[in-house]
Amino acid sequence: MSTLVFVKEQVENERRCSLLPVNVKAYTKLGLNVFCESGIGESINISDDQYKEAGATIETDKKQLLSQADFLMSIHPLSKEALLDTKESVCCISFLDPFNAKDHITWLKESKRSSLSVEMIPRSSRCQKMDALSSQASLAGYVMVAKAMSALPRVLPMMMTPAGTLKPSKVFVIGAGVAGLQAIATAKRLGASVTAYDTREVVAEQVHSLGAKFLKIDIGETGQTEQGYAKALSPEQIQIQQQAQAKCIADSDIVITTAQLFGRKPPVLITKDVIAQMKPGSVIVDMAAENGGNVEGSVAGQVSKVNGVSIIGTGNWPSEVALDASQMYANNLQALLLEFFDNEAAKVVLNLEDDILQTALITHQGELINPTIKSIMTEEKA
Ligand code: NAD
Repeated sequence: MSTLVFVKEQVENERRCSLLPVNVKAYTKLGLNVFCESGIGESINISDDQYKEAGATIETDKKQLLSQADFLMSIHPLSKEALLDTKESVCCISFLDPFNAKDHITWLKESKRSSLSVEMIPRSSRCQKMDALSSQASLAGYVMVAKAMSALPRVLPMMMTPAGTLKPSKVFVIGAGVAGLQAIATAKRLGASVTAYDTREVVAEQVHSLGAKFLKIDIGETGQTEQGYAKALSPEQIQIQQQAQAKCIADSDIVITTAQLFGRKPPVLITKDVIAQMKPGSVIVDMAAENGGNVEGSVAGQVSKVNGVSIIGTGNWPSEVALDASQMYANNLQALLLEFFDNEAAKVVLNLEDDILQTALITHQGELINPTIKSIMTEEKA
């Protein structure tokens, strides 16, 4: 019988958690043991008693809790110090930031702990229900519009009133992936006039289907990877993009940037010169602020002002809607764990032949598994 352990997040300002009582019921129905840290649902107003009623064992002693885990679930990775209290055979499942957390991954490998990075779960139809990157990005798209709206000294929809007509606010979304499309849909629902741009022309149709306009920019060959991610642009292409979108940015009340490159630093797409052309009072939300940012002058974790334009770089967007984000993340984890549930053994069994695990597992029994991370780390060592 496998023991699943869920811990309370330790990262400052994190309000999400990785387990809801409904998931406890699903796990225990299959005969899995569920242990969780006391206070795990506190920030989303779910009490220890509710988890207990659903069938979980509540643990206040963290060392004791960690030592029991066959599978250890969280949103953020646990520290090395905490993981010293786990069994060598544990499998830790969380966001892992594998392209950047190289020291931690080296430690996981050397200490023979297994780790599964939810970012590396393939973007395939089979994996949609486990795709935490998408579930959290979608909520981020919604939150970014809400944040921008509350900072803007205007309303979003057109209003025809006896006191005069208010024109709809203009919103420009750069990057129409999961977060961008949700931002477009949210801004449209609120009545804004929305335009979007993405280097992957294939998304133009999706943007139109949401009722928004797609800004056409001819930057030459772009394309996408097999997994559907954007390819990096050349410096010349970035320059063409920056110039071509400058007028649209200057005209906009809200600009939301969600342009990311999987495993790489996001491109800088809005320079200080362009911000200087925007109306004072306008708002930019930089989704990527914590990873370097799409916007010059954005500060990770903060709202900054440049020429009267608010630049919101607060980050950790899904935590603002922590209850829904926790529900989606916990369901993603449940789908993942149950995909590998062996009915006869009443255990979760990691089948290394499975293509999900071949990419999502980063370390296992002292080996690096994900081929991309393995080659990056081997190259760096050489
Ligand atoms: P992402 O977070 O890596 O990037 C966000 C968006 O930024 C992407 O649309 C990308 O094209 C865009 N971008 C990159 N550079 C840009 C630039 N210079 N200017 C403008 N835009 C730029 O992407 P994501 O949201 O994680 O989605 C990546 C892909 O995965 C998409 O094709 C999506 O449809 C696909 N996807 C598939 C599944 C599935 O099949 N299960 C699930 C989720 C996502």
